[in-house]
Amino acid sequence: MESKDIIYLDNNATTPIDPRVLDGMMPYLTNLYGNASSRHKFGMQADIAVKNARKQVSDLIGCEINELIFTSGATESINLAIKGIAENYKDKGKHIVTILTEHSAVLDTCKELEKNGYEVTYLPVKSDGLLDLDIIEKVIRKDTILVSVMYVNNETGVIQPIKEIAEITHKAGSIFMTDATQAVGKLRFNVNDMGIDVLTMSAHKIYGPKGIGVLYFKNKRPNKVRLKALIHGGGHEKGYRSGTLNVPGIVGLGAACEYVDKEMDKNEKHIRELRDYLERELLNIENTSLNGNKESRLYNVSNICFKGISSEALIIGLDNIMVSNGSACSSSLIEPSHVLKAMGQSDKSALSSIRISLSKANNIYEINHALITIKKTLLSISSLNF
Ligand SMILES: *Cc1c(COP(=O)(O)O)cnc(C)c1O
Repeated sequence: MESKDIIYLDNNATTPIDPRVLDGMMPYLTNLYGNASSRHKFGMQADIAVKNARKQVSDLIGCEINELIFTSGATESINLAIKGIAENYKDKGKHIVTILTEHSAVLDTCKELEKNGYEVTYLPVKSDGLLDLDIIEKVIRKDTILVSVMYVNNETGVIQPIKEIAEITHKAGSIFMTDATQAVGKLRFNVNDMGIDVLTMSAHKIYGPKGIGVLYFKNKRPNKVRLKALIHGGGHEKGYRSGTLNVPGIVGLGAACEYVDKEMDKNEKHIRELRDYLERELLNIENTSLNGNKESRLYNVSNICFKGISSEALIIGLDNIMVSNGSACSSSLIEPSHVLKAMGQSDKSALSSIRISLSKANNIYEINHALITIKKTLLSISSLNF
């Protein structure tokens, strides 16, 4: 299948790489193959490229360059953060608070900790996907070492009130972490203004390469964060994550950060226009409804329920138009989305919903074509028993 034949509307699963990002990486995949740890000229050249990328990432999220660790992606960053904090602060307490609509990287890491004597509170959300601030206040205890709430939900685009949650967390003397994989590069924010002590992100969600991500954790008072490493070896990344640095990946991540930073307003305007148009048209179809809070929601996603329709049949019918039901990680199994279930929906309603997520690479022709095809497909499958 040629990529020109497909209409890719699954950008929350992954984005196409920006050609300028690939260009920037090429020298480090070819001629400039030095190891950033080597003390010769070749190594130093790689090291300079890594330092430059640290600056590009820290400029985007507003942290210091010594507050970043490079990892293989958001999943690894999340594991290192949650397990590393749990281990380091276990004398203070063994209680963690998170929410039911988190990505499986957070939920499964917490479940793993529960097997090892930690206690995790999974907070429910309202039917619009938003967390009720009052309940957080009630569940934080003296032994709560970490509160982890995602910034933007990958399935619905719902934006949680991160700053308020951070404030409540800090008042109770705990660490606030956010999985910002879907927020970075799309929303303009600064970790210090928002009260974020720990943040995770990934390059391939912002037009960068796969297999490279970042863990930010605060390195200044108050709320300086300490954590135990998971991967030991040569002491790379200040001992927090050993292993030869993925220089081409890091260079690509840095470049991706710089471009989304510079072009954020332009990208938002373009994507929002397409999304709003698409969403209006879809909601004009009979028996459709929107999943997630209408206002506190990111501008690139529409999660739509087609009542009485199997999303699986719809996705197959859409053929060369790529959309998703559930998150990319779990959609190989036909299971209702845990996010929609946490929002109080029935299995049937969750299994009738699809997620359409746009990027700067999409255009109006694609959206119009997708709309026509969706309407046609709905007609052809509406008689199927579901
Ligand atoms: C994609 C995603 C992840 C996982 O990121 P990887 O880099 O693929 O490990 C985690 N959280 C959210 C919200 C995501 O969208």
